[in-house]
Order: sequence, then C-alpha cells, then structure tokens
Amino acid sequence: MAQNRIGRDHSRMIPHPVKLAAAVLAFGSACAGGDERDSTELPKVSPARLEEHIRYLASDRLQGRGTGTPGYDSAARYVAERFAVLGLDSAGTEGYFQPVPLRRARAVEGSSLILVGKSGRRGLTPYRDYVPSPDYLRRRVEVTAPLVVAGFGVTAPDRGYDDYRAVDPKGKIVVLLTGAPSSFAPAERAHYATPRLKFQNAVRRGAIGVLVVRTRDQSFPWDRLTRQARAGGMRWLDPKSEPADAFPRLRGIAILSDTGAARLFEGAPTSLAQVLSDAEAGKAPAFDLPLRATLRTVSVHERVESPNVAGLLRGTDPRLRDEVVVLSAHLDHLGVGEPVKGDSIYNGALDNASGSAALLEVARAFAALPRPPRRSVLFLAVTGEEMGLLGSDYFAEYPTVSIDRIVADVNLDGLAVLYPLREMVPFGAEHSTLDSTVARVAKRLDITLAPDPFPQEVFFVRSDQYSFVRRGVPSLFPFMGLRSDSGVDAAARFREWLATRYHTPQDDIGQPMDFEAGARHAQLGFLLGLEIANADQRPAWKIGDFFGRTFGRRAAAQTTTSSVTE
Ligand SMILES: [Zn+2]
Repeated sequence: MAQNRIGRDHSRMIPHPVKLAAAVLAFGSACAGGDERDSTELPKVSPARLEEHIRYLASDRLQGRGTGTPGYDSAARYVAERFAVLGLDSAGTEGYFQPVPLRRARAVEGSSLILVGKSGRRGLTPYRDYVPSPDYLRRRVEVTAPLVVAGFGVTAPDRGYDDYRAVDPKGKIVVLLTGAPSSFAPAERAHYATPRLKFQNAVRRGAIGVLVVRTRDQSFPWDRLTRQARAGGMRWLDPKSEPADAFPRLRGIAILSDTGAARLFEGAPTSLAQVLSDAEAGKAPAFDLPLRATLRTVSVHERVESPNVAGLLRGTDPRLRDEVVVLSAHLDHLGVGEPVKGDSIYNGALDNASGSAALLEVARAFAALPRPPRRSVLFLAVTGEEMGLLGSDYFAEYPTVSIDRIVADVNLDGLAVLYPLREMVPFGAEHSTLDSTVARVAKRLDITLAPDPFPQEVFFVRSDQYSFVRRGVPSLFPFMGLRSDSGVDAAARFREWLATRYHTPQDDIGQPMDFEAGARHAQLGFLLGLEIANADQRPAWKIGDFFGRTFGRRAAAQTTTSSVTE
C-alpha cells in the first residue's frame, strides 16, 4: 500500500513549466498581502487525496491509533514516509520522529472514596458515583480530610475574582465545579477552566486533594467519561523520568457523577441544585461541607513511548528563514476500548484522521509551490492529544527548533466534513494579529467567519494550539461553523455528531463525510500558513491581550519552570 502511494506522490513533485510560471506570479502577490485574482493559481487541496488518507488512517487496521500502540506507530510511519516523498527535511530528534517518553497510569481495584458525616460512613461506588484519577507518582496514596467547596477553583487577579476568598482550603480536600465563570470572555474562561491551572491553584492554597463536580453544561456524557477513565491517563516524562503535571501535593483526585455529587451535598448548607444554578449564573458558592472524606487511590504504571512526526520546509528569505510557522494536527485517537453498539475500535475519522490528512495535503501544497515561502514551515503530527495535549506540550517544551523562532501555530483538529462549508470559527484569532490574516484568507475562499458559538465547551484550550499559546506563540484553531449552505441544519447536525459519534467507535469511515468541504478547510489552512510565512511581520499578540500578558515570552519561562517543579 505504502509503495503504491509513494510512486504516485513522486510524480507530483515534478513541476510543470507553465504551471510553474503562473505559480511564481501568484507567489509574488501572496507576498504583497494576498490578491484575490491569483488565488486560483495556487496549489489546491484535493478532496480525493484527503479521502484516501482518511480511509487509511481511520481504517480498522490502525486500531484507533491509540497513543503508544502499534496502530499509532503505523500512522506515524505513514506520515513520515509522505513527508520524505514531499522532500521535507526531517525535523524530529530521530529523523522525522520525536519519541515522547510517557507514563501511563490507571486507577485499579482497591481505590475507594468514603464519606464520613453525622449520619455515618458511606462508600461511593467507583465508575457509578465517581471516577478515580490515577496517581502518576505513587502506586498507593491516601488522603483523609475535611471537605470545602470553592466554586470553580478559579483565582483571576486581573478580574479581582477569587473563588477561595471566603474559604480556607489548607489541609482540606477542595470540591470544585468544572468550568469557569460565564462572565469571563470566552477564551479567558476556557483558560481558567483547564484542570492544570485549577490543580496548581489548589496546591498553592494548601489543598491536599480535589473532588470535581460537573456543572450542568457539561456535554460529555458520564458513560463516555468512565469508558475513557478505565483506560487510564498519561503524562510525558522529563529527562529524569519525572512526569509533568503530576501534582504530588494533591494526594487524591476524583470526578463525581450526579449521584456522587448528590451524596456529597447531603446536609450541605446550600443544596447541590442551588450550587449548580448559581454556577450557571456565574456565581460559584464557597463553603465548608459537614463531611470528611477518605480517598484512596491504587494505580498501576506503565512506561510507553510514542513519536511526534516533524517535517520542515526551509524558507527562502535569508532574513526570515530561521523563523518557523507550525502547522499541527494530532495523529492519535483513543485506540481500542469498551465496545459501543458492538464496535470497540475508536477509529477517530473526523477526530483526527481528517486533520492529519489535511496536514499531509497542506504539506503537499507547500511542496508544490515553485518557490518555498520566506519563512520555514514545520509540519507537525503530534501524539497523545487525546491524553491531554501531551505530544504538542512535549514538543513545545523540548522543541526541535527554537521556541522563540516559532511565529505561529495553525492547528488542524477535526476537518469541516459534516456539511458543505460556508462558515468557520477561527478559535483564538481575536487575541493576535492573526485575526486580519484569517479574515483575508477566509474572504478569498468565500468563507464567512463567526464568533465562538459554544464558549462553554472551551474548545480553544482543548486542542494542541494551546500548548503553543502557553509558550507565548500566537495561534489559531480554525473549526467548522454552525451555518451551512444547501438547507442543512448545520447546528443540529454538529450537535448530533457531538452527542452520538464524538469519541465513540462511531466516529469512523462509515459516517457520511463531505470531502469537498474538508478540502476547503484544508485550503484555508494552507493559505493561512502561506500568508503567515510570507508576511513582513510575524504575528503578534494584541496589545493588552489576556494570553499575551499571561504567556508573553517572559511569562512563558516562568510557567514552564513552575509546572516542572510543582
Ligand atoms: Zn478528540
């Protein structure tokens, strides 16, 4: 299979002289800021090739591309072979590969959560009342402490907001709601909703354990969460084999279901229903619960390795060629898991065979340019996204090109293959000068741009661009919008996809997919990368922007240090 494709790819590498002349003209005007007349002369992403990659990557042969599995390794080799055929330079640490050392941890039999209150002791049932989070450092760990509710667990000094204002979590297990206040701007809300930040904050306040209560806007069904939790979690390992983001001072972490949360709030000064309603209204209450909890976690550890795949197209401008535009897509999915409707292979066709396919075709489009752009372009297929953005985080921590030279990340996660593409949501654009870039490119493709239609889903922090944002790199995550041509109720279709296929074995090649629309999405990625690579100025955070302030170059170094020493 691979050889057949390689042969065909090779023939594409020889440019036709007439096309070449036209493309040179087009390139000239792209430099000047993008002229609509010439866009037709640029290489085009082919829907058929996209489909071919998706069919392979999402095939049962690759067993759902689970991080650290042979199926994922096959996918990684597939990508590396194509990078080689396109003539990209290898930009990993071992050729095209950057192996990521990982520890898998799974909470097992023997883990328990017991509540002790006035009415006695009550044991909660694992996977029905709660999901135990594995411990990445210790095989056995236990904590017994009083419980205190501290809203969303958010401290945002900029906004004068602090969920810990009225309570003292020192030496206690803190009960936190998912999400962040609805009064926050969407991306800021997304940032503050990330567990890493909440756990860091809890540790800083002296908490020794965390119980998470899900708010009503959580669309991720409980049974799906338990299925994924049983498979365990992963963390990347630093050169001393220490796991990142392991939070040793937290001696237990668990997520409660509705039934578990109901138990927790029996006899509480404020009812669970009231707490959840208040959270929806953006005011998260904080108070002590009349309970103590004993959380015991027994974990099994396993060493795993899984590669990122990196290929580089060298830039041509002697002044700018050391700067790098990253185009990223996660290649992993959930692998093989608990069966749903008789199928146990989580093929991840849309999530993210489609984005990986787009990465390959965008790379092909770049390689087909008669002259590479001014800046270099790094094509990066990452591992471990579904386990917590691990591959991209590892790459951003140990980049194979200087992180200061990375001018932007454009991330492709989930192509717009559900309906004809008319509208896109450029997650993250408003924070940097990438907003005008994406506006220009979208206009050229006759795509309208829409603001984030589901801020409560915090998509901006849920894919790999966020690993770059956290190191101060302006980034963009273009995603399908909720309006379409052709009388399709796109919003309903997307919600239905989220509810019935997202992270289930049914996100497979059997579902209807619009490859034309996917190719338009990929074309947008290509043109974005090209504009950024050819622009006189590298993208910059907007003045005073939240992410620029929080993670701008100086802040980035501090963040990195604290997450390692925590
Ligand atoms: Zn996913």
